[in-house]
Amino acid sequence: MKLFTIGPVEMYPSTKIIRDNGFVHFRTDEFSNLVKDTLMKLSDLLGNNKEHSLIYMAASGTAAMEAAVENCVTENDKVLVINGGAFGHRFCELLKYHNKKYDSIDLAWNEALRANHLNQYENKDYTMLFVNLHETHTGQLYDIKMLSEFCKRNNLLFVVDAISAFLADEYDMDKYGIDLTIISSQKGFVFHRVCHLCLLANV
Ligand SMILES: *Cc1c(COP(=O)(O)O)cnc(C)c1O
Repeated sequence: MKLFTIGPVEMYPSTKIIRDNGFVHFRTDEFSNLVKDTLMKLSDLLGNNKEHSLIYMAASGTAAMEAAVENCVTENDKVLVINGGAFGHRFCELLKYHNKKYDSIDLAWNEALRANHLNQYENKDYTMLFVNLHETHTGQLYDIKMLSEFCKRNNLLFVVDAISAFLADEYDMDKYGIDLTIISSQKGFVFHRVCHLCLLANV
């Protein structure tokens, strides 16, 4: 039996060995430099050359989604959610739980998102768009260019959960005008050698 620890993606054995060597104590310069170094690497990989900041959370991906909902959506905002599966549905639940105004574009199982789904939401009172770029539940990868253009045209803040898309699919915050990205370590990220690289910095 295979245990997919961490997350649903198996870790490289070579990464496990690095992890087993233990971590640097967090009150040392070595640790601070390691954090700064990995933040810079991540920033580059995100295509994030603007004045964005990156925040590490010792939490689940869902907690990062909730942090985005709680901290970024004000009472003046109205969110449009692409709800194409369990993770889109989770955004809706979080928005509802925190009493935020939202509407969702509900897609059927494995239905692709097309321009005609967005048409009726043009020039309305929305201020933000929330999407799980790759809806892990169904395997749908949404058209980032189409969503980016929709957000630009309608002046929406573009919030992307890229937990399973980051490092697996093309991703560039500057190119697509993405205002907030949510990533976590257990999906596209762990599968990629960069995870290995970040840990290597720790040896
Ligand atoms: C897995 C996943 C999450 C949730 O991450 P957890 O760490 O399990 O809470 C959120 N969004 C997407 C797109 C995911 O694939």
